[in-house]
Amino acid sequence: MNEDFKALLDEAVRLHGHLCGGQIIGVRMAMAGLRELGIKEPRGKEGRDLVIFVEIDRCPVDAIIAVTGRTPGRRSIKMMDYGKQAATFVDTRTSRAVRISVKADSFEKAGLVAKTLTSLNDEKQAHLEALASMPEQDLLSIRRVRVAIRPEDLPGETLGTVMCRKCGETVRDMRQAGGEGDVLCKPCALGECYYEEISSETDG
Ligand SMILES: [Zn+2]
Ligand SMILES: [Zn+2]
Repeated sequence: MNEDFKALLDEAVRLHGHLCGGQIIGVRMAMAGLRELGIKEPRGKEGRDLVIFVEIDRCPVDAIIAVTGRTPGRRSIKMMDYGKQAATFVDTRTSRAVRISVKADSFEKAGLVAKTLTSLNDEKQAHLEALASMPEQDLLSIRRVRVAIRPEDLPGETLGTVMCRKCGETVRDMRQAGGEGDVLCKPCALGECYYEEISSETDG
């Protein structure tokens, strides 16, 4: 394990709360993505234009956030709910983009590497060590891709604010449904929402 990797993994574990295979995989994905885009200091100036699409809402996301300093709140982490261990790193300044995905047979390959680590008699520890040390081409698939990011999805200023005529709540960044003069938020327009209201505001 080299020093850079170790330091980034420590950072990821701090944010995520535990060491797991997802942290190792996420750190390796982020390091590969940054390297492919030529970004050495993502938290500095050169990371400002970096937007990352993550395709799973599990452990590796936190590692990617820890390594890159990009966050959903800064609109530079986009959650794509595909359930896939993959992420696309986009340099919005140059439009260069690279998609890093975990190879389907990597778990099996890590298992084989783990078996060779006879000095570690803890199976789980050996598997983590294998994930950290196995060759990148056995773990990750790296492909150039093209990503069209809409202006309303980019970091930066809010592009427009409207009020839903039904619920009266404010909708930012063109997330409203309905056309001109008939502004509705998505839940009101679709008639479906992830929550159901069970008390009014004043009930406390
Ligand atoms: Zn985890
Ligand atoms: Zn509404």
